[in-house]
Amino acid sequence: MAIKTLQVSAKKLVNQQREFFQSGETQSIDFRLSQLKLLRKAILEHQELIIDATKSDLGRPSFEAYFEIATLSEIKLAIKKLKNWMRPHRVQTPLEQFPSTAWIQPEPLGVVLIIGSWNYPFQLTISPLVGAIAAGNCVILKPSEHAPKTSSAIFQLINSYFSPNYIAAVEGDVNTCKQLLTEKFDHIFFTGSSAVGKTIMKAAANHLTPVTLELGGKSPCIVDTDINLEIAAKRIVWGKFINAGQTCIAPDYLWVNSKVKKVFLKLLKQQIYNFYGDNPYESSDYGRIVNSSHFSRLKKFLENGTIIIGGETSLESLYIAPTILDNVSLNDAVMQEEIFGPILPVLSYENLEETVAYIRSQPKPLAIYVFSNDRIKQNQFLDQTSSGGVCINDTVMQISIPDLPFGGVGNSGMGNYHGKSSFDTFTHKKSVLKKGLWLDLGWRYAPYTVNKLNQIKKIING
Ligand code: NAD
Repeated sequence: MAIKTLQVSAKKLVNQQREFFQSGETQSIDFRLSQLKLLRKAILEHQELIIDATKSDLGRPSFEAYFEIATLSEIKLAIKKLKNWMRPHRVQTPLEQFPSTAWIQPEPLGVVLIIGSWNYPFQLTISPLVGAIAAGNCVILKPSEHAPKTSSAIFQLINSYFSPNYIAAVEGDVNTCKQLLTEKFDHIFFTGSSAVGKTIMKAAANHLTPVTLELGGKSPCIVDTDINLEIAAKRIVWGKFINAGQTCIAPDYLWVNSKVKKVFLKLLKQQIYNFYGDNPYESSDYGRIVNSSHFSRLKKFLENGTIIIGGETSLESLYIAPTILDNVSLNDAVMQEEIFGPILPVLSYENLEETVAYIRSQPKPLAIYVFSNDRIKQNQFLDQTSSGGVCINDTVMQISIPDLPFGGVGNSGMGNYHGKSSFDTFTHKKSVLKKGLWLDLGWRYAPYTVNKLNQIKKIING
């Protein structure tokens, strides 16, 4: 049965899924493994559809569109590790509890909602699904309406391979999302802006539903003097301009040591040229902006500072050239809002302390990038700033380490996923204590004698 734009009411869909969840069928390892394998099969059989859809939604090069399929490696890992992840974990019990054993027993949460974003519209919707399946939940997916071809591909793929009682994809806009949010879920996993994240959390609060919020923010990138500047420029230009800058962990802005700023700007320009040629508009390796409203939002940033490369735009083809801005001030809009597009403001610093102090004064970012070989300087950021993640001497690649939890902190989000973290996100860790009845130590029972009080003092005071 296909469900498009909530032809079945949100309530009915959630109730159907809750009934199926309560049947217990999703609990067994065999069921979970079979569904993970089914998802892998569905993706493999629809690869072309998925890649074409994301190419069409974001005017992307095929190479970058292929990143969407990276979810396959998440599935592979979950299949390999699931038995281990599901295993109850024994913990120690103190002597006064003798005879006893205690353990943590992972259990699925129930019916969960996953709300996706448009910038990596397949991956950011399906990757959390892998964790939700592995953890034994029923799932409703709401892909972003701003990537309509991918939303439709997800709809087609999910609803033709899975029963809607178990996993259902629902297409629709904000109103569909709002309808879904009136229902009680056991977890909501949201990827999007901090502003909408607050709306999601408010709606979730009505049902005391826990949330994972994968949000955005301004991720700074710091460039020191003691490094291979050419490689640094290459890695920064790559991380900033893939997907035309529409990457939540793209370096948002640069702080470059004033001693190397001039030469570094030259290297950045050279790398843009190396990647996209004289005219990036004609490059088959450079993407487009998702829609006209984001285009207009980004175009306004071009009024800040001095454009030293790029700045060309075309509303008709939603094109904004890879652009570097010099001479921006911290008060400019481009330094006040998350850019989320192919515009890179470059600031300079004299002392690293200035950058640390500035980052500390701002909302906590999703990522901080530090290009430096000096361990003391690296540690300054690790110890004195807070962010979802830190990557030293590269950009964006931290996302591809399966054992690193991916998520924000403070304004950039709460909770995390990828690898085992995805399984944990959709799992309740149930505490279990099992006592033996063959012995019953009397220290806690009334009448409370002096002897018992001394015993408890010994236990508590150690
Ligand atoms: P968005 O917040 O506008 O929309 C995300 C989803 O929320 C969509 O599915 C949309 O239908 C729904 N939505 C929008 N308004 C709503 C409302 N009022 N009530 C209920 N639902 C609503 O975000 P976006 O424009 O898709 O994404 C851009 C932002 O997402 C950027 O800030 C970016 O940094 C962030 N982002 C974060 C990550 C991450 O992993 N941390 C990944 C991608 C994007």
